[in-house]
Amino acid sequence: MSPAERRARSRLAQLAHGRGLLRGNLVERRRVCGKPNCKCARGERHVSLYLVFSQGGRLRQLCVPKAWEPRVRQWVRDYHDARRLLEAVSQLYYEKVRQRQD
Ligand SMILES: [Zn+2]
Repeated sequence: MSPAERRARSRLAQLAHGRGLLRGNLVERRRVCGKPNCKCARGERHVSLYLVFSQGGRLRQLCVPKAWEPRVRQWVRDYHDARRLLEAVSQLYYEKVRQRQD
């Protein structure tokens, strides 16, 4: 196993045993709540965080509560890292098959 592969696999194992993995993209939406005296009526809109993801071919979204923001951001980051590492390992194996290497 090459050093690059060893590094990628070891990081992948850390992520798999780590905090959590969550597939999706985080988007911030600014909205008005409709209450006439609220600050949002004067232009200071409420900011909500949503997780947007596809499931069964459909686009879905979940509102992320403020208190959950840090952990959800971490899970999403870890998922993206794991995906990138899996892809990197897979690239090495395309090469092995192409070159008939054990
Ligand atoms: Zn409001």
